[in-house]
Amino acid sequence: MTTRVRFAPSPTGYLHIGGVRTALFNWLWARKTRGVFVLRIEDTDQERSTAESVRVILDALKWLGLEWDEGPEVGGAHGPYTQMERRALYREHAERLIRDGKAYRCYCTREELEAQRAALKARDPKASFRYPGTCRDRKDEPDLPYVVRFRMPEGGSVSYVDKVFGAVATPNAAQQDFVLVRSDGVPLYNFGAVVDDITMEITLVARGRDHMINTPPQILLYEALGCPPPAFAHLPMMLAQTGEKLSKRHGAVSAAEYRAQGYAPHAVLNYLARFGWSHGDQEVFSLDEIVQAFDWEHCNKSDGKFDPKKFLAINHEHLKSPRLTSDDVYVAQVVPFLYARSLEGVEPGRVKEAIPMIRERATTFVDAADRLDFVFRDPPLLDAAAAAKFLVKANAGHLRDLATVLEKADPWTAPALEAATHAWLAAAGRQIKDVAQPARVALTGRTASPGLFDVIATLGKTRSLARLRAAAESAERG
Ligand code: GLU
Ligand code: ZN
Repeated sequence: MTTRVRFAPSPTGYLHIGGVRTALFNWLWARKTRGVFVLRIEDTDQERSTAESVRVILDALKWLGLEWDEGPEVGGAHGPYTQMERRALYREHAERLIRDGKAYRCYCTREELEAQRAALKARDPKASFRYPGTCRDRKDEPDLPYVVRFRMPEGGSVSYVDKVFGAVATPNAAQQDFVLVRSDGVPLYNFGAVVDDITMEITLVARGRDHMINTPPQILLYEALGCPPPAFAHLPMMLAQTGEKLSKRHGAVSAAEYRAQGYAPHAVLNYLARFGWSHGDQEVFSLDEIVQAFDWEHCNKSDGKFDPKKFLAINHEHLKSPRLTSDDVYVAQVVPFLYARSLEGVEPGRVKEAIPMIRERATTFVDAADRLDFVFRDPPLLDAAAAAKFLVKANAGHLRDLATVLEKADPWTAPALEAATHAWLAAAGRQIKDVAQPARVALTGRTASPGLFDVIATLGKTRSLARLRAAAESAERG
């Protein structure tokens, strides 16, 4: 049987990285088993769902490379993939349950239920209200608005074996006759999800542990509809360092924010895969390696704390490694950040040549763009403190002489430039330290930069000599 998994976000805001983690684990399982990854939009909360949010979620998934095989935009044989377009299907299934005596129409008004709740609270403030089953055995069918409620079996329990948490059992007595469809015909989450998972032929449901409470009523719905339930895998929660639910208050939590901060998509997936799953001591993975190694057995049950420092360190590892981030991928990711700086001559070929000199240090693509700024800005932005310290009269001669020496260097490669410079320093009885910092400031505008000769090689002859000579002149003027 082909594995079919789904990611079913509610489009009520941004794509939270906890949601990315859920999408990733489903996607991984689909890729690992050569199955199908379905994307379904659960937009039944019409007050909070927006088209803009759908857009944001699709964009984030595409940026991450979590491409879906069926769903919005790509279509598929089980569509439509947006719940508000599937209402006829929910109505049909609800009618079937009513016919079979597994569900019933409830005509109780909100006011009546509220009054019952208030009366209960007055008697016992700690009691939690449950629908008392008023309409369970009602025979008439008045022409009044109604909701459809599930007829909860009176005894028994639901049990299943979670792929992560193991055996779970919940007595039915702990549950009430929950609502399947509201009076306006819109399904509630549990019913919509089950009808969709059945009709979309989902074989495994992986989602956050916060949904475990929904699994027993969902399994009862499968039974009532005469369908075998899928497998379930619940994933531990992502908490903030404070132990609270991870939210905006704790910093960046959306995929889009990490994109804007210059994170590499595969680094994001690497961090999220390792969050709650392990493979020996390995921390850094290519996406292919994760697909190969992934399994449910090595997912842990305990909630974890989101660690921004570790996340950044993983990103740094990905940016450092040409194996994990090829030059071409690096170029594609960093170019938008260079454009955002209104730089001149940002061409993929030139960017690609400059990448090796910053790879080791740059922790994000934003950081990389900052480190590459001087390559594409003429003259480079000059750090005032660096200029005041190094572009001084005493250094003007060093800068001018270095330009003269480099002018004759051939070929224009870092080793040749370095050899020519050292030969001159030895002959002239000068020290590299006297020359290096003024030259660095002249060429890059800063005291910290990639290796001096890499900088000179990358800038090319014309620009290097021009920058050294312009700096010599301004140093001369003091
Ligand atoms: N729309 C639900 C959510 O975003 C999906 C839950 C599920 O995967 O069943 O939490
Ligand atoms: Zn009722």
